[in-house]
Amino acid sequence: MLSVRSLQVRYGEVEAVRCVDLTVGRGEIVALVGANGAGKSTTLAAISGLVRPAGGSVTFQGEDVTGLAPELIARRGVALTPEGRRVFASLTTAENLMLGGAVHLGRAALKEREAEMLDLFPILRRYHRIKAGNLSGGEQQMLAIARSLMSKPKLLLLDEPSLGLAPQIIDKVFDLIADLRRSGLTILLVEQNVALALEIADSAVVIANGNVALSGSAAELATSDLVRQAYLGI
Ligand code: ATP
Repeated sequence: MLSVRSLQVRYGEVEAVRCVDLTVGRGEIVALVGANGAGKSTTLAAISGLVRPAGGSVTFQGEDVTGLAPELIARRGVALTPEGRRVFASLTTAENLMLGGAVHLGRAALKEREAEMLDLFPILRRYHRIKAGNLSGGEQQMLAIARSLMSKPKLLLLDEPSLGLAPQIIDKVFDLIADLRRSGLTILLVEQNVALALEIADSAVVIANGNVALSGSAAELATSDLVRQAYLGI
């Protein structure tokens, strides 16, 4: 479904991504892992069109989308849930959800999709009219994911969903990610918690200093010496 080849991204003098290759098949979860500053978020930004690659290509559903504007990539079915959740704190849960689908869906479709999201995330029903800033970290993460899904994406780019959450809440978020995959969604997951990422993913790509250090099935990587020593602390 998604193919990234020799991706290169620069911020001025900083070579944030030097050469990243990755493939995500339909219905898969692929984990993108690596240390702080390795280039994971930048890879997601390049796929979703938020930054323009300096080199390489991004192909989505057989179509070259390299360097297209973010709204055009979103329209093709790619959604990003950014790191740090970034819900609109002064807007209600309902308003946040509506914003997620507003560009793509008409009024009736928006309402229908919102109802689907509230079924999928029952916790959000309870806080429907509450300002998002009053939700807990875990609830805000659920809302951020639900908001991304309002546009009915085919591919979800999920950046650090566990960041800053208590272990029990992380489990809930990851249960939800597994449910989403079962419902047919394809997911590219950036995650600092490598053990957790490898548990849920089909395959994984390890990046270091903007390059792919290692890639393979999640089961293979979980037993690799490099991953065990560098990322799992074993
Ligand atoms: P983290 O988990 O800490 O976000 P990451 O693997 O997602 O790490 P990126 O955020 O992609 O890494 O950053 C890769 C490199 O690019 C880092 O050296 C970072 O400092 C740099 N960088 C990221 N965004 C910018 C920016 N807007 N301008 C300049 N440099 C940036």
